[in-house]
Amino acid sequence: MLHAISAEDHGPHGPAMTRAIQACVHCGFCLAACPTYQELGQEMDSPRGRIVLMKEVLEGTLDWQAAQPHVDRCLGCLACEPACPSGVPYRDLISPFRALARERFARSQMSRLRHWLVAQTLPYPSRFRVAATLGRLGKHFPNLVPESMRPMLNLLPSCLPPRQSWPEVVPAQGARRARVALLLGCAQQVLDPDINAATLAVLSHNGVEVHVPPGQTCCGGLSWHTGDREAAREFARRNLAAFPSDLDAIVTNAAGCGSALHEYPVILAGTPEAKQAHAFALRVLDVSVFLRKLGLRRQPKGFGKPTKIVYQDACHLANAQGVRQDPRVLLSSIPDVRLVELPDAHLCCGSAGTYNLDQPGIAASLGEQKARAIVASGADLVASGNIGCITQIRFHLARLGSAIPIRHTLQILRDTDPL
Ligand code: SF4
Ligand code: SF4
Repeated sequence: MLHAISAEDHGPHGPAMTRAIQACVHCGFCLAACPTYQELGQEMDSPRGRIVLMKEVLEGTLDWQAAQPHVDRCLGCLACEPACPSGVPYRDLISPFRALARERFARSQMSRLRHWLVAQTLPYPSRFRVAATLGRLGKHFPNLVPESMRPMLNLLPSCLPPRQSWPEVVPAQGARRARVALLLGCAQQVLDPDINAATLAVLSHNGVEVHVPPGQTCCGGLSWHTGDREAAREFARRNLAAFPSDLDAIVTNAAGCGSALHEYPVILAGTPEAKQAHAFALRVLDVSVFLRKLGLRRQPKGFGKPTKIVYQDACHLANAQGVRQDPRVLLSSIPDVRLVELPDAHLCCGSAGTYNLDQPGIAASLGEQKARAIVASGADLVASGNIGCITQIRFHLARLGSAIPIRHTLQILRDTDPL
């Protein structure tokens, strides 16, 4: 009964959600691409099944409680989009639907408390640092930590890197070729700030002046993907105000953050900032895309020996932003590097924001499968473009007893920079 969906009833995203639902012809081509369908083997945990569930909830023919576990299990990895021959824009459905569900339907107290705790810490680096420090202590006293929080604690490194501060402008070395602004990422600043240091160094060495706007804040992705529309809008508004509009690009080095910045037009749909959000999103580029377009000034110097690298596609780069080739081209330009592809490379590693907290069993299974595939590939090194994937895969490689290192693409380029 598609005609029963009233787009107007569903706020600014109603028409987009209706279009996404109507585009699905139920062919099932997306099932093989979906990690939760691969894990659980149930139609209701596949993209096709979830689309039907969300449609029925919107039409009022199904209770939210019946659909909720299956909608909650969606990783938001968007592997279903490139697999869909009908071009169903699943991203126009899942996050707006979660926002609507959060506004209209009740959740358990424990679930609300968990989301509140995460929303109050992860998007704020100084609070997250305190929480991560306490969390590391909690690892020694696991019985004092609620069971539902333990999977997230396990991912924390044994030692947090020291806090780093960033200059407002890093000048270009040599003749200036471009001017950009960099989004620093929240968790990244605490878990691995060297990724930002490497990004600034590589851009500067390649003639790029980099601005680090001091008023920048969380991208809002965490809030948006957990259905907190108002918090996501507030973060988006602050970033619209913080980032200068006269630079060549806004670059990101965390796939999840870049994907969220690209979603600002959706997040701010129906608000006075919608037009500004469109213009902003058009200027956002992953740093690998920006660097490939610009061209490296000098060929990297290599590792001094043949090196096999697995490039791990972050879902929010490959599926959400369509970025697959640029990091591979950059890594292939390093002498004696051979890129190897994993079987089932399209399957998410299970990181997906707070998925470890919300769905620890599926997250652990996906993480372990990814780590086993990497070990079996015989790789010397893993590269990725997202702090979430790096943290998850590093943990699961260590759990298997593997010493294969995982680094951000920009760290590898910095370490092989001929300067
Ligand atoms: S592949 Fe696309 S059209 Fe087919 S069932 Fe999946 S979402 Fe629907
Ligand atoms: S976003 Fe990922 S987990 Fe969710 S339905 Fe699509 S493929 Fe499955």
